Amino acid sequence: MRLNAICLVLLICSSAMVCPAQPRKSVFVITDAEGVAGICRQEQTEPKDPELRQLLTGEVNAAVDGFLAGGADEVIVWDGHDGSQTLSATTIHPKAKLVIGDIGPRMTFERGYAAVAFLGQHAMAGVRGGIMAHSYSSLGIQNMLLNGKAVGEIETRTALAGSFSIPVIFLSGDRAAVKELHDIVPDAVTAEVKEGLARYTCITLSAAAARELIREKASEAARRIGAVKPYRIEGPVTLQIEYTTRNSLPISAGSHPGSEVVDDRTIRIHGKDLVEAWTRYQAR
Ligand SMILES: [Zn+2]
Repeated sequence: MRLNAICLVLLICSSAMVCPAQPRKSVFVITDAEGVAGICRQEQTEPKDPELRQLLTGEVNAAVDGFLAGGADEVIVWDGHDGSQTLSATTIHPKAKLVIGDIGPRMTFERGYAAVAFLGQHAMAGVRGGIMAHSYSSLGIQNMLLNGKAVGEIETRTALAGSFSIPVIFLSGDRAAVKELHDIVPDAVTAEVKEGLARYTCITLSAAAARELIREKASEAARRIGAVKPYRIEGPVTLQIEYTTRNSLPISAGSHPGSEVVDDRTIRIHGKDLVEAWTRYQAR
């Protein structure tokens, strides 16, 4: 049936001599450190730690293999952990492209990827059993609320991608991170590479087993491109950031557009939609 449909398309295209360009299936991968198999202690997340680099690169390359095998045309990997210093063009999968540096509030989503994937992801701040769980900054941010709901990197980035009609199809990380994505995108494919018993205590797969699982699940995820729906948060949006106790908002904190000082270390940012609120937050 499917073969017939493909034959028909080829026939029509060849007779008309004009074929509508098939959109390229680009997968944009966001990497982090705390959700990589074998990483359970804080000092292991130093961006230039040799073991972290090896473990993360192995998982990234397994995911790239999987996405390509599942039908992706292109895989673009953003080195998303702490200053973009963990991945290297010398060891990244030869068929992947590497993004190094700060990518701003829109995360390049306006380039129109077919899908977004999280690799090595951790849960949001405060999650019980979340290995090194935090929301963007362990030291700086106590809590982040989106329209009153606690969120971390998973939900904000999934919703930002959704603002550009891009679905999140895949996540690898610890059990708590997997649950966090499934709560908002039940159809996403996930690879659970470790289980948190406590913040710094985990039961982890070996690097080899994690890579095998990631390759298989990434392939399955790529085959689901088009079936997984983008996750959207409709506007208007209020983003509330509560910083940790050693922080204090600067004198000018309330003077930025859409900003409202709640207390000395809590700010609320309003926007007509998530992209506006997030851009205002990042511009502060
Ligand atoms: Zn992170």
